[in-house]
Amino acid sequence: MEAAKSALDELGDWRRTHYSTDLSPRNDGEEVVLFGIVASIRRQGAINFLILSDCKGLIQIVIDSKTSQDVVRKMGVLKRHSYIGVKGRARAMEKAPRGVEVVPTELKILSIPSKDPPFDMFGRIVPSLEKRLDIRAVDMRRPHVKAIFKIRDSVIRGIRAFLCERGFIEVNTPKLISSATEGGAALFPILYYDKEAFLAQSPQLYKEQLVSSFERVYEIGPIFRAEKFSTDRHLSESISVDVEMAYVDYNDVMDLLEELIKYVVKRSGEECEDEFRLIGVEPMRLDGAFGRFSYGEVFEELRAKGVPISWGDDLSSAQIRSELEGMGGFFFVKDWPTKSKAFYIKPKRDDPKICEGFDLFFGSMEIASGGTRVDSGELLRSRLIESGLNPASFRYHLEIFEYGMPPHAGFGMGLERLLMVITKRENIREVAFFPRDPSRLIP
Ligand code: ATP
Ligand code: MG
Repeated sequence: MEAAKSALDELGDWRRTHYSTDLSPRNDGEEVVLFGIVASIRRQGAINFLILSDCKGLIQIVIDSKTSQDVVRKMGVLKRHSYIGVKGRARAMEKAPRGVEVVPTELKILSIPSKDPPFDMFGRIVPSLEKRLDIRAVDMRRPHVKAIFKIRDSVIRGIRAFLCERGFIEVNTPKLISSATEGGAALFPILYYDKEAFLAQSPQLYKEQLVSSFERVYEIGPIFRAEKFSTDRHLSESISVDVEMAYVDYNDVMDLLEELIKYVVKRSGEECEDEFRLIGVEPMRLDGAFGRFSYGEVFEELRAKGVPISWGDDLSSAQIRSELEGMGGFFFVKDWPTKSKAFYIKPKRDDPKICEGFDLFFGSMEIASGGTRVDSGELLRSRLIESGLNPASFRYHLEIFEYGMPPHAGFGMGLERLLMVITKRENIREVAFFPRDPSRLIP
């Protein structure tokens, strides 16, 4: 340990000139300073090939008999996952990845791990997901894991660009709240000074309040659900993309959501060609329109197939899910029974047993829920009571409606659910940086 420490160099005045991916044969002969992690070391006779991994990609470093003695000596100390700086010259080399390598004149060893990672950088050794999550930050050093989060970043930037273009403003709503949004079952209680409070399970009520002034708002932020079960598609803390807009109904919102998904799928596919290749996934192409079925139609079809379902059931039983899986791709289920949706979804005027709510599915997985909202304070109060909630707890919300509220509609979409679809991952934990579930609160 002491020996390793004393072998370390200081960063000093070295600063990066290029990322690995900036280099190509065109840089032949240029002086470069690179930083990164040692992904692999291959010794071939008197020549050492070192693959350096930085946040953008990989680059080959070559140490041969002409390299300075100091660099050669330091090479002897290096192991995988060492953090280093390399000063040297780029050299066009046909056989190297991307046709270029770097011949170092100086090397700085910035960190040497005291522990050997339980997996290699390129996914040849695959430890269990649990083990990977225990040291998630190390897991994410691996290019094919990092790729998922580059795609995530592209998707989020796509969502922002799409909504910004359409006049939405990005908002933030409180995560420390005094009452449930949709009922108390799935809330995390916390101590707020000397009072009981909760972590927000949805920005629903706040985004509705905000449309009364801003008309078009969205939030990309955490939601907290204290669901006791552990599944491959639920997290206790997840990121929700919440959109709300005034002077529209659920049909407009379904149009918007469909356009949004097509836009981010296309954009991330184009922006992240390398990342999709790394994870071995062909980017999705979404050509046709998403299907739109009423709950009644789905209900009748399931009934006709002999699948057990009662009017008002959600579509999450194992048997229903295996039927939905067969539908393939994205589709909407709309016009749900009012009793199966939250109190803020607007019942149809001519048939109040049915509401203007929808869910977006990909196969059997729910991706988003939305609808036209109740905009009358009076109706909202009676819907609260019908849903078994106490209007007194929602005083702060109902009061806003007393000052008037425009017609409005919106949706909430699980970012991780969308990412599971885009990156074709079966387990939601794969697409979350530091997933939280009933049995995991660290790291
Ligand atoms: P599900 O029935 O799948 O549990 P939900 O109907 O309870 O979802 P909503 O309250 O409608 O969820 O939340 C809107 C969206 O947020 C969902 O469509 C889903 O994409 C996402 N979402 C909800 N809960 C979770 C969770 N625990 N983990 C990950 N994503 C979630
Ligand atoms: Mg839902």
